[in-house]
Amino acid sequence: NFVSAVVPADEIGVRFDDIGALEDVKKALNELVILPMRRPELFAHGNLLRPCKGILLFGPPGTGKTLLAKALATEAGANFISITGSTLTSKWFGDAEKLTKALFSFASKLAPVIIFVDEIDSLLGARGGAFEHEATRRMRNEFMAAWDGLRTKDSQRILILGATNRPFDLDDAVIRRLPRRIYVDLPDAKNREKILRIFLAKEKLESDFLYDKLAKETDGYSGSDLKNLCIAAAYRPVQELLESEKAGRSESALLRPLNLDDFIQAKSK
Ligand code: ATP
Repeated sequence: NFVSAVVPADEIGVRFDDIGALEDVKKALNELVILPMRRPELFAHGNLLRPCKGILLFGPPGTGKTLLAKALATEAGANFISITGSTLTSKWFGDAEKLTKALFSFASKLAPVIIFVDEIDSLLGARGGAFEHEATRRMRNEFMAAWDGLRTKDSQRILILGATNRPFDLDDAVIRRLPRRIYVDLPDAKNREKILRIFLAKEKLESDFLYDKLAKETDGYSGSDLKNLCIAAAYRPVQELLESEKAGRSESALLRPLNLDDFIQAKSK
């Protein structure tokens, strides 16, 4: 019950190609996770190339951290367990030890597996604040102990992937356990264009749709903001059709193609 999702590798349904931009992030995850999980024999010798036990994705909301985690599991052929830091600490007071043991033993049965901890700051935030709840403290300590306790054999096949918008709230002890920290940034205009092309790939657009102009008009938008904008814009032709039907002017039941103005109007709304 404390896990928000468990998905087998071949049922996740998201791949790296579904994620626009973030090329450097995908490349880093390929080296750090996909290769060691797919070709463990290449990492079994010597001391330098050790698969890492923990990775942190940090950056502003809506930039695709959760999406990356899911796609990473698909690409690595790993099962996917998702838990949310705030749910763990708010709903499961008292049973910290049992809970973490159950989680880690469940994970070893599912290995290779990625345990995605969203809002990792609420589970493993800085220690010792005056108002820190005893249950939160216990949960964090149990979680870190279970994590440290992963046997070497398991640690190659169980990865903790944390995500946060508040990296500065993390405890030093946690930061040390997440040796690889990857910044997932807001997209620039070129990358917004790539993301928009993915969202609009199957939509009916007017010919010569000015993707680059739309990308320039959406400065500061995250991938999630761009998706919401596209949804709002795609609704406009539907609304027009419904209105003309209502007014008895339903010459055509076909939706018109989307144009740039739909996006500009949706944006101003
Ligand atoms: P939060 O920090 O708020 O949890 P997040 O960084 O985990 O956000 P996601 O939940 O992965 O962000 O993104 C929300 C939605 O935005 C995704 O389901 C996806 O539809 C879209 N999205 C965000 N970034 C991208 C991207 N680079 N390519 C394609 N879709 C994206």
